[in-house]
Amino acid sequence: MGNPTAVRPSSAFTTVDLDREGKQVGFLMIPHSPNDDAWGATRVPLAVIKNGSGPTVVLEGGNHGDEYEGPITICELIRELDPGRVQGRLILMPANNVHAVMAGQRVSPVDGLNFNRTFPGDTRGTITMQIAAFMTDHILPRADAFLDLHSGGSSLDILPSAIIEPTDDPALHVKNVAAARAFDAPYSVVISNLGEPRTATAAACRAGAITIGTEMAGAGTVSIEALAICRRGVRNVLAHLGMLPPEDASPRRGDGTVLELPGSAAFVFATMDGILEPLHEKGTPVRAGELAGRIHCTWDPTRVPDELFYRADGMLYARRQPGRVRPGNCCLVVAAPYQGVLA
Ligand code: CA
Repeated sequence: MGNPTAVRPSSAFTTVDLDREGKQVGFLMIPHSPNDDAWGATRVPLAVIKNGSGPTVVLEGGNHGDEYEGPITICELIRELDPGRVQGRLILMPANNVHAVMAGQRVSPVDGLNFNRTFPGDTRGTITMQIAAFMTDHILPRADAFLDLHSGGSSLDILPSAIIEPTDDPALHVKNVAAARAFDAPYSVVISNLGEPRTATAAACRAGAITIGTEMAGAGTVSIEALAICRRGVRNVLAHLGMLPPEDASPRRGDGTVLELPGSAAFVFATMDGILEPLHEKGTPVRAGELAGRIHCTWDPTRVPDELFYRADGMLYARRQPGRVRPGNCCLVVAAPYQGVLA
């Protein structure tokens, strides 16, 4: 457990006791006072399964509202997991940015905020800021491990992978790599979000928790393959952490390959308004300088298509899902072999 954060004054409360034995399913309640509900509340689902001594593991889904495999997996655990099988405490939060989840959108329709750019949050801020503040003040300080289950969302289709958040703490980094490999997705990938400190996983690392993210396909749908990887992977990590018995882990499938996004050169951005023609399937080896795609302006046939080029050597890791692009849209993402320390 990391350094406890100072708890800021807040009007949020929970309907479960985070420290009680057994299984409880309830809500984080955040007072919310819109036009039609003067003294109402935003309800963020929150379940606790606790049995005896052992680590505290936090599972987060619905950080973005259009990413589905993680939330399905967490809800199944809430319904199906026998508390007697658990050693320690599981805190399960399947729909953290709940207004975004109910809308099936990346960001909250209530305040327009991307939850994953709001940490450490603000107990007197908007609803999304207050959810992040509750995580920062009450959940992450209790966590020995934190799993943040993302997918590519509506705009990206990503190779299913476990994500390693960079940390300045070398001992925590080694534990994060081991836990991501235990998840046993086809790839493990170090992703820094270009050094972004306002994400849930960056906040979890600062709290000293073993931290794992995922990217489970995306494309605005539920991937059959990625959902199976996610269901297996979560149980694999819980067994790795000693919370579930070793026999609950699946036999290893992957070879433990670790990749990274090589900085801003990983990303190919749209240069004009039009329709993206990609040239390669995900998983294809690519080279810096190689033609990556074209953008066609189909409403002006005199306009010559813009050509897009890869800017890093590696493998095509993610592709934009909608064909329609505007300047600055992320079209393609390249991952390269990880150059850092693994053990
Ligand atoms: Ca996401």
